[in-house]
Amino acid sequence: MTQARPRLVVHGAGRMGRLVAAAASAEGFQLQALVSRQHPGDLDGAQWRPGLDALGTAPDLLIDFTLPSGTVAAARWCAAQGVPLVSGTTGLEALQARALERAATQVPVLHAANFSPGVNAMLGVLESLGGLGIRSARLTDVHHIHKKDAPSGTALALAAALAPVQVAIESRREGEVIGDHSVALELDGETLTLAHHAEEREIFARGALRAARWLLGRPAGRYRAQDWALGGEAD
Ligand code: NAD
Repeated sequence: MTQARPRLVVHGAGRMGRLVAAAASAEGFQLQALVSRQHPGDLDGAQWRPGLDALGTAPDLLIDFTLPSGTVAAARWCAAQGVPLVSGTTGLEALQARALERAATQVPVLHAANFSPGVNAMLGVLESLGGLGIRSARLTDVHHIHKKDAPSGTALALAAALAPVQVAIESRREGEVIGDHSVALELDGETLTLAHHAEEREIFARGALRAARWLLGRPAGRYRAQDWALGGEAD
């Protein structure tokens, strides 16, 4: 942590960016500005800027919840300005993810498809099951109908945690579901099922802010939400 009340810029003023901005003060940050291309309407007193280049002073940290093109712009800007970056944007293509890798050579970067402590615990459990003899796995991701990417970033992260096991993913988009994930693991004559249900979107906003506090003062490099949520160290 670099100071008692670090200055925060939130990139993206959609569902998530607004929640992060609203929770910033309670989590010990000073909200410097919310950045989005279009003015998002009522901001409850927060400052708004139309782009990162319109920020007068660099903040102590930037949290990004946009679309992949926004994350690439944030990664470049943070690297150039020396600002640590936390991003929760999902659906990044390999080339877009490389922008995060490049930024991580200059500043600490934590990108995670999911900032809930529960999902990060689930990832940790799945990674520990390599010796269980899993024959196959079925994963279901259910989200609201506005979600742009499918499978969800969380579903892809859960599947990656089971590698090299083959995982069949079913993605469903229904109503206003915040995020439900379940994994059924076929063992020898038995099935092990793990499931997570997000009851409120605020868990992701609080998680991103807490992960951001954890990231401050760390050296340049890539970090995972699991490193923060499970109290471990970086890769
Ligand atoms: P949203 O559509 O409500 O908001 C997206 C915001 O990004 C909008 O304000 C839009 O104007 C802005 N934006 C888009 N492209 C931009 C660009 N190039 N530059 C600057 N701003 C840009 O979406 P949301 O529900 O807030 O979700 C945002 C992202 O966060 C999605 O990828 C979603 O999957 C992800 N998400 C992650 C977590 C997590 O825990 N990691 C949780 C929920 C959602």
